[in-house]
Amino acid sequence: DVMVMRHSSSGAPHRIAQYMKASVINAGDGINEHPSQALIDMFTILEKKKQIEGLKISFIGDILHSRVARSNMWGLTKLGAKVTVCAPKTLLPREVEKLGVRATTSLEEAVRDADVVNLLRIQTERQDQSFFPSIREYATAYQINNDVLKLAKEDVLIMHPGPVNRGIEITSDVVDGPY
Ligand code: ASP
Repeated sequence: DVMVMRHSSSGAPHRIAQYMKASVINAGDGINEHPSQALIDMFTILEKKKQIEGLKISFIGDILHSRVARSNMWGLTKLGAKVTVCAPKTLLPREVEKLGVRATTSLEEAVRDADVVNLLRIQTERQDQSFFPSIREYATAYQINNDVLKLAKEDVLIMHPGPVNRGIEITSDVVDGPY
């Protein structure tokens, strides 16, 4: 039997597991973790790149509020990827490098020679304060467009867990492009 539960508080899956004999699959809890998304992301990378070990994989966007980034960091570092997370300083979790990833505020640094770039939207519904001056300013500094992508490997794989905000974290031509 499968029971689907909706919840919003971080850590709920662990608490639910204490009261049930059944296995609990976490399909995303609050800003904490999203293991099912990370598993499918790793599966996709393996399918397209045939390996994960040694690849430069960069996450760009709202790292602080991203359960997708957090679960991917656990999984990808375990599998030997060189993971970089990139955002304005206010959207980088404190001490994130303790998870074995590299943190940078420089888009160029994150994209240069990247094998995989995973874009994250700004999670406004999970923010309780202003983390940057304006969306326009954010897009100017952190948007992925075809010019910036020239820094990446020629066969770079672009990923996005959705929903995509065309014109903010990524331009439409990249969304509809070959990568
Ligand atoms: N779909 C992803 C999530 O559930 C990413 C997002 O909403 O930005 O966390």
